[in-house]
Amino acid sequence: MADRSPSAKNGRGGERPLNVQVAVRCRPPNAKERLEPHFNIVQCDENAGQVTTPGTCGVVRKAAAATGEKTYNFDYVFGPTSTQKQVYDTVCSRAVDEVLEGFNCTIFAYGPTGTGKTHTMEGGKDEKNSNHSDDRHAGLIPRSVKQIFTRLRRSNQENSVRVSHLELYNEHITDLLSVSDEAEKLRIYDDEKTGTFVLGLAETTVEDESQVFQILQRSAKKRITAETEMNKYSSRSHSIFTITVHSKSTSSDGDELLRVGKLNLVDLAGSENIGRSGAVSQRAREAGNINQSLLALGKVINALVEHQPYVPYRDSKLTRLLQESLGGKNKTCIVATIGPAFSSLEETISTLEYAFRAKSIKNRPTMNSMVTKKELLADYTRRMARLEKELLC
Ligand code: ADP
Ligand code: MG
Repeated sequence: MADRSPSAKNGRGGERPLNVQVAVRCRPPNAKERLEPHFNIVQCDENAGQVTTPGTCGVVRKAAAATGEKTYNFDYVFGPTSTQKQVYDTVCSRAVDEVLEGFNCTIFAYGPTGTGKTHTMEGGKDEKNSNHSDDRHAGLIPRSVKQIFTRLRRSNQENSVRVSHLELYNEHITDLLSVSDEAEKLRIYDDEKTGTFVLGLAETTVEDESQVFQILQRSAKKRITAETEMNKYSSRSHSIFTITVHSKSTSSDGDELLRVGKLNLVDLAGSENIGRSGAVSQRAREAGNINQSLLALGKVINALVEHQPYVPYRDSKLTRLLQESLGGKNKTCIVATIGPAFSSLEETISTLEYAFRAKSIKNRPTMNSMVTKKELLADYTRRMARLEKELLC
């Protein structure tokens, strides 16, 4: 995350407040939209970091009150011709470096279904070898995996990298890296040291990028199975891919010190039922179409923006898992994705308003403290004991 804000320079371990960074990416019009008369009406000024939606004057707008032209300012704006590399270099490359320095960073993709969340996070699905980071279609996940291993190969420290990948559908967590086909009941626990974690979630140690790409192919297969079994699974599920890097050094008294950093890459469910203020729309409520986690995310953002004394993190699994990313110790960037056509203007405005509000959330990025090998072992022993107790219950 390249940071333009003045406070960013103080973020390194300083626990000074740092705003959540917000980027907007507008995808190019698709074949269906190109048949419409106003298929490219959202203007993106990448240099100024501005997105302008048109006034509805002269353009017939169904089921909505006429609105005037409106310009929104964001930290970064990517127009329809922006490349995957541009998005990566601007919002993710710095985050990878910060993870290696010992920070936890999170990047969310938020927006209506079909606007490019998965394209941004994972990359072009239709392309051969889409997971390969040399591919120009590769998204943030394969590019960050590649950068992490390139950096680690250059460092002379001993390192280890672990990945986990989960999906959340209807408040049920699926471990995409589990080899078992049986549905596990994964629960979230709080840990005073490391924050929330999912007990029993597979964390696979990986040696290089090609191993991660193989793992990602396996998890993609698991999602395809879920898609065929559950209605609209991909637009209603959230996925969280996490890369954890441990780097080892030796202290002056000979103890082994471990630095830990985490990168969370989050592809959220489609935001089409979420209104401008983050509340679920009346229409969606009537259809019983409520995504508990997205609703809770909107409430958490509102509570943080409005400085409410109570932030309802515990209302959903998503907000529990991402508590430190919103108003917490992580460095966070939201990439809001939108479409360019008049036919999706209502959704586009909702997304822009939502993303604009999120800009005022402040986090206090904190570098993870170094732990000795003994402390880390004690931590694992504690978790194992918990897992054993859980299995016996
Ligand atoms: P979402 O995950 O938000 O539902 P997708 O990422 O699946 O949306 O994108 C929908 C379609 O639009 C896909 O075919 C994708 O390849 C295409 N697309 C999305 N964003 C872009 C972009 N920036 N450039 C080119 N094609 C894109
Ligand atoms: Mg998607």
